[in-house]
Amino acid sequence: MKIMYPCPACHHKVKTRSSRILSDYVKERYYRCHNTACLCAFKTYECFEHFITKTVDPHIKPVADIQGPVKPQSTQSTQRYSMRLE
Ligand SMILES: [Zn+2]
Repeated sequence: MKIMYPCPACHHKVKTRSSRILSDYVKERYYRCHNTACLCAFKTYECFEHFITKTVDPHIKPVADIQGPVKPQSTQSTQRYSMRLE
C-alpha cells in the first residue's frame, strides 16, 4: 500500500514527479497535484528518524552510528516547475 502526501493546497491526490537521494538518510521527492484547478508542485523530505528494531546478525554491519535525525544537505535543484515559491 502506497501512502502519498495529499496536496497541501487543496488536499487532492498528488503524483510523484521525481525523487533523488540526498544522503544515506535523506530522500527528496517532487510532487504535482492531480486537481486540474490546482496543479501545484511541491517537494518533501523523507529522512531516517531512528531504528524501531535492529538486526542482531553479526554479519550485517551498520553504515554508521546514528544519534538523531539527519538534516538534509543544501542542494540546488535543476528541475523547474511553473512557479517557484522558495
Ligand atoms: Zn492541489
